[in-house]
Amino acid sequence: ETGLTFTRIRPMDGKPGGQIARGGIADIDRAVSSARKAFASGIWRKKEPLEKKKIMLRWADLIRGHAEELALLETIDTGKPVMASLTVDVRLAADCIQYYAEMCDKLYDEIAPTGPNDRALVRKVPLGVIGAITPWNYPMIIETWKLGPALAAGNSVVLKPAEQSSLTAVRLAELATEAGLPDGVFNVVTGYGEEVGKALACHMDVDMIAFTGSTEVGKLIMGYAASTNLKRVALELGGKSPLIVFGDADLDAAASAVAWGCFYNSGETCHASTRLLAERGVVDALVAKIKEVTAREITLAHPLEPSAQIGALIEDAHLGKVLDMVEAGLREGAKRAFGGERVMGETGGYYVSPGVFFAPSNNASLARQEIFGPILTVIPFDGEEEAVRFANDTLYGLAGAVFTTDMSRAHRVSEDIQAGTVWINCYDLSNFATPFGGFKQSGFGRDRSVHAIDKYCDYKTIWQRFR
Ligand code: NAP
Repeated sequence: ETGLTFTRIRPMDGKPGGQIARGGIADIDRAVSSARKAFASGIWRKKEPLEKKKIMLRWADLIRGHAEELALLETIDTGKPVMASLTVDVRLAADCIQYYAEMCDKLYDEIAPTGPNDRALVRKVPLGVIGAITPWNYPMIIETWKLGPALAAGNSVVLKPAEQSSLTAVRLAELATEAGLPDGVFNVVTGYGEEVGKALACHMDVDMIAFTGSTEVGKLIMGYAASTNLKRVALELGGKSPLIVFGDADLDAAASAVAWGCFYNSGETCHASTRLLAERGVVDALVAKIKEVTAREITLAHPLEPSAQIGALIEDAHLGKVLDMVEAGLREGAKRAFGGERVMGETGGYYVSPGVFFAPSNNASLARQEIFGPILTVIPFDGEEEAVRFANDTLYGLAGAVFTTDMSRAHRVSEDIQAGTVWINCYDLSNFATPFGGFKQSGFGRDRSVHAIDKYCDYKTIWQRFR
């Protein structure tokens, strides 16, 4: 409606990547009204479950059939290696839609216990119009985490992707239409967060906002909901996840888990293992091994190079923010073990080498702030009590891990870490059957698993008396 566009700059080389429609409030009004009309008509909500499943399965197949195109678009927008886009992002997006497609004809309601003359149905009903607001770090993955359960439950969705990653969101919607999803059920409005994102979150006819992004914006979203129509809110926010390594651990396995856990996707991962809590006696040996693994396995290269394991950061401003945080940390007394510097500047792209820093304490800014770049902060500890105390001394509670060969301790510590996911002797393993999300200021509500469906539904009791 605005006729305006903005230019997306490619992180891989700093060159223009395309013109994106800069939506306005009128576009959000149109999209919400189209979503409401589709919901009220029952064209999707009341469709036979088997038919819904077939459409969603066709959609998953179309995503797979367009894997190379989608991977390239995702890489142009985000600067992540095209091989990662292909083998991780596109694959998981298709698998997610398939997982929830399969659920369409397997969701049951309840009959509550009553006397013989009554029948009480406890129905799980869709909420209506869902606004999804998503970030740029894993665009398709996080979008399908919301679209899969919201649509399987029978809702309509209006998606506002991050302004940095609009391309695949638009393609996902086109493929959904091709698969047979009725018009109005899934809408995309591209544009700026403070414009269309805010308009969606403030809209009086939106029943829920499913948000993934920073804690700062998550707080705004709650405020918008509170000051408008009390729409529900689910928030998947930031993290500063601790990975604890005890002296008895398999240090090779721990080093590999830390390096991949922190540096994968250039550290632009909400649950990245950015805080390494290492038992004092093994700190140096562990950091030496992390350096070896990083040099051997985590190749930083142009994202279109098939050998690249990590690529560029999302944009110039973010590159500056990451480097500023590193500089501030050094001024506070942190010591650089290796890396954490701008590289490949001649390409025009936004590349930072994986870096490891010793923090003066768990209170140092490098140990507390979410940097969202390939920066690992190392903090030594003495004993189990201190490890758990440091791990939990953070605003966040998204993920954590413990490495030890003492299984009693592993289970004790994993119970005590306040986080939505805790790994033992591994990192970042998951599948669609496990819920994902945070405690504390990492948000609330869970993506993935059968439980994600509940978020997009409410219970409705229908009580009947027989005479
Ligand atoms: P962000 O700045 O919070 O943006 C997230 C989304 O919110 C974008 O679509 C953005 O639009 C929109 N937005 C910004 N201001 C808004 C406003 N006032 N009203 C409504 N919408 C608004 O986060 P990001 O930089 O894209 O992503 C990085 C953050 O996401 C990190 O903190 C990371 O930890 C978190 N994250 C969490 C998870 C999880 O599952 N817990 C997963 C991935 C990422 P624009 O792009 O146009 O500004």
